Amino acid sequence: MSENSSRIIGKAKLMLMQDDITRQSTDAIVNAANSGLMGGGGVDGAIHRAGGPAIKEECKQIIAKIGRLDAGKAVITTGGNLPSKYVIHTVGPVWHGGSRDEPELLASAYRESLKLAAECKLRSVSFPSISTGAYGYPVAEAAEIAIETVVSFLRGMLVTLEEVYFVLFDTGTYRAYSSVLDKLVSKS
Ligand code: ADP
Repeated sequence: MSENSSRIIGKAKLMLMQDDITRQSTDAIVNAANSGLMGGGGVDGAIHRAGGPAIKEECKQIIAKIGRLDAGKAVITTGGNLPSKYVIHTVGPVWHGGSRDEPELLASAYRESLKLAAECKLRSVSFPSISTGAYGYPVAEAAEIAIETVVSFLRGMLVTLEEVYFVLFDTGTYRAYSSVLDKLVSKS
């Protein structure tokens, strides 16, 4: 990992890495899910495949109770067979050009996931790049919202989170996040 890819924010460490999120052993990994919580393509499919049926079983029970998980909201389940103990499922916005509250909904997906991690007293959490795959959110803009939201949460935080990772699958996404981090957060 290059030196540029980590920062201390308050009492926590924020890190970028290029990897497969299903291999991470943080307390939780975040899933860029869809509102039905029944799995899908991209990172969602990869998490369900690697985590096994226990995750889908809990998702079914959640959907039986709440109907659907709206964009900007988050819920937590077991990590099943994953190295992480928990999966936090959140739904990012589908990109429609930016006029349908997409920035606020994307920020909310990160914030609600972090709140849930803090409420569950987790110490470490890994995020993928929410909404920038099938949901079509432009990656430079999404990276700015993702990093700003996490940084402002960590600055305001009095609780347990010690490590937040962005686990980015491809080089282009990693570079986009890295340049936003360099622009927004000075090196510690
Ligand atoms: P969305 O529907 O929210 O756009 P996608 O899963 O289609 O979600 O894409 C979100 C991001 O997750 C993309 O950058 C995609 O390349 C990435 N991704 C896909 N598989 C993995 C994985 N196993 N680990 C980390 N990131 C992944």
